[in-house]
Amino acid sequence: MRYLTADYIFPISQPPIKNGIVAVDDEEKIVSVTSSVVEKLKDNQLEIYKGILCPGFVNTHCHLELSHMKGVIPEMTGLAGFIKNFISARRTFSSEQVENGIAAGENEMLENGIVAVGDICNGSDTFKQKAKKNLKYYNFIEGFDFFPENTETELKRVNNVIEELMQIDARADYSSVPHAPYSVSEKYFQTFSKTLPDKIISIHNQESADENLMFREKNGKIIEFFISLGMNFSNWKASGKHSLESYLTFLPKANNLLLVHNTFTNSEDIKFAEAYSNNIYWATCPNANLYIENKLPDYNLFIAAGAKMTIGTDSLASNYSLSILDELKTISNHFPELKLEMLLQWATLNGAKALGFQNELGSFEVGKKPGVLLIENTNLDKVSLSSESKVRRLV
Ligand SMILES: [Zn+2]
Repeated sequence: MRYLTADYIFPISQPPIKNGIVAVDDEEKIVSVTSSVVEKLKDNQLEIYKGILCPGFVNTHCHLELSHMKGVIPEMTGLAGFIKNFISARRTFSSEQVENGIAAGENEMLENGIVAVGDICNGSDTFKQKAKKNLKYYNFIEGFDFFPENTETELKRVNNVIEELMQIDARADYSSVPHAPYSVSEKYFQTFSKTLPDKIISIHNQESADENLMFREKNGKIIEFFISLGMNFSNWKASGKHSLESYLTFLPKANNLLLVHNTFTNSEDIKFAEAYSNNIYWATCPNANLYIENKLPDYNLFIAAGAKMTIGTDSLASNYSLSILDELKTISNHFPELKLEMLLQWATLNGAKALGFQNELGSFEVGKKPGVLLIENTNLDKVSLSSESKVRRLV
């Protein structure tokens, strides 16, 4: 048994406790969370830390398979520019570079206190590393068909990737998911989820103003770029609405749905989505948003609507680190009024619920095995992060 204490503990399932104590058994399960010493502890039984203790972080959006692309794609080109650079850069790496990137990316997440990941997979590159079970993953096997004539072929490709995953680890968590509203046909939306009930769905949503422009007016840099590649959009029709309102009702209400990015989501979009389903989780990846579009979502709109927020790192193709703490620091810098208690809830329990891992992860509750993190170099007077804040895993 270990007894850990710090200036504050954030159990997440209850308000922060000043000088609280969390007790963890030999199997790393939470045994008790207390505000004072209930058992007579000898001095040498209590581990005393300076800073904040919280449960392990849940990263709800990553592309581990792109970890070798750190620093390759220029910043602030907008999403269309990013995709263009990405397509040409992705071909230039050896399989050894890809594998090394995956191992290093996973290690970076472990060192930064991440205990579970919702990871997008276009292919099977990451599956061997994941089978080592260093980290808990939910695999989102992502497809895009663009046009209905490609739907069946793409779903077959996705199913082949799922079969590869099952051969490597038959117990892995996975689902088949659509990439983004602009890269998936209505037929794909209608069919991809039919074969996989009770699974979690994830989709990139409103990452760029050009995505909304495409759906509203069949205009903007995203559709222009695809047309420049020779794709024929003559049968593609604009809905006259924002992208989210154009596709959301194709998705089942009963499944957890992770909407990722939401940088250009307005309050009408949020209201529309929250009225449609109670199972929506909004994943924000602030550092990737700054990298690609140099813009952040307006978090106050989501908070006002009672939206369930989670945090993602996105990939190293559009970020300098795979660190949830770095994402929280960025949010705190731009929105200093947001309380650390709420941000840590986004980073832990909300993410665990979104991925269906809440029975084990996300909060200091008796019987759970969430991991225990120490956040050091915080502003203890204001109970907030500083640019110097660091995280390490204690349990
Ligand atoms: Zn992504």
